[in-house]
Amino acid sequence: MAQLELDKVTKVFDDSSGTIVAVEELDLDIDDGEFVVFVGPSGCGKSTTLRMVSGLETITDGEIRLGGERINEQSPKDRDIAMVFQSYALYPHKTVRGNMAYGLQLSTDLDDQEINRRVEEAADMMGIEDLLDKKPASLSGGQQQRVATGRAIVREPAVFLFDEPLSNLDAKLRKHMRTELARIHSEVGITTIYVTHDQEEAMTMADRIVILNDGRLQQVGTPKEVYYEPNNRFVADFIGSPSMNFLDVKLDRDGTGSGTLVGDEVSYKVSDGMVGNLDDASSDLVLGVRPENIRIEAGAPPEKSIEATVDVVEVIGSDNFIYLDLAGQEFRVRTPSEIEPEEDETVTLTFDEENVHLFDARTGDALVHGRSQASVSAPPEQSDTAAD
Ligand code: ATP
Repeated sequence: MAQLELDKVTKVFDDSSGTIVAVEELDLDIDDGEFVVFVGPSGCGKSTTLRMVSGLETITDGEIRLGGERINEQSPKDRDIAMVFQSYALYPHKTVRGNMAYGLQLSTDLDDQEINRRVEEAADMMGIEDLLDKKPASLSGGQQQRVATGRAIVREPAVFLFDEPLSNLDAKLRKHMRTELARIHSEVGITTIYVTHDQEEAMTMADRIVILNDGRLQQVGTPKEVYYEPNNRFVADFIGSPSMNFLDVKLDRDGTGSGTLVGDEVSYKVSDGMVGNLDDASSDLVLGVRPENIRIEAGAPPEKSIEATVDVVEVIGSDNFIYLDLAGQEFRVRTPSEIEPEEDETVTLTFDEENVHLFDARTGDALVHGRSQASVSAPPEQSDTAAD
């Protein structure tokens, strides 16, 4: 049973430039067999957390438990954990077989026959059987990455840790390897933490995504949860590409229960259901709407539309990304490729209330998500659900 628990885990670095709280009171329960992806901007504490789990970094405060047992004081080699890094760190003078076998020869008393069996089984899984007798220098980046992953698989660990393992590969190979790693995970079912700064990688691979910023946990949820119900403006901005649009608005109640969100050159009528969820909210709000949820529609109802001027149309093939000017602010819309307005043209934009997110302007906390029409007064507890 390889359930991994992080209980108020904190890491403070003290160096000549001062004290840095790299990770602050991180609570996380990762289920046996779960594939969890850590995302966040550079410096948010992803690698430090991974290194604390592996034992390469000491823990300042808090506890890490594997299968219910505290592992804070265990050395890396005593933890049943295998790590794959961004740099594959293969031994250049050893063959692929030698590289894959080496860890087992050092740290176990398995006989040669069993080591060979495991190496060949992992090579088969990674599709590198034909490379076993080659040296790393003659392999492509993608093949080296497979060897590094195969070397971790032969150990049959309780937990896999991946630190940006695909960053050195070109875009096409990255996508391919993502699918490969997801397939291997479903075959071996080992509890996995995977670190990336690429939100698309996180969305496509994870059972659950852990979003960090500035050493603090922002949200834990399935890809759908973090996309449709972001806890706060940071998560809403980080997940999705191009990123969500934000507009400063105030709620103007009309006395009948419904109301209008009013901002600079923005006026958008909302239902009593949405207004009812804002009873205790401050009047300074931020309206969030994703580029893919906005339509350019000349005949849209005036009470649910916004006018903006087209700056740039970016053709990406299947879709167009349209960048507009709305009261001096950039506004992004993603449309089907046949919708291609002229630059400098003024267009009418509209979106459905179910795609509206409202945030507290001061704290950034989510107040209501149109789709669920649920009030989000406090950040939800960490979800236990796996991806559906
Ligand atoms: P990246 O995506 O750039 O790798 P990250 O999210 O993995 O970033 P960490 O490497 O975990 O971030 O760093 C978190 C914070 O801790 C940063 O402010 C970093 O500068 C600091 N930090 C990391 N390692 C050390 C160290 N050995 N000494 C001092 N500060 C450190």
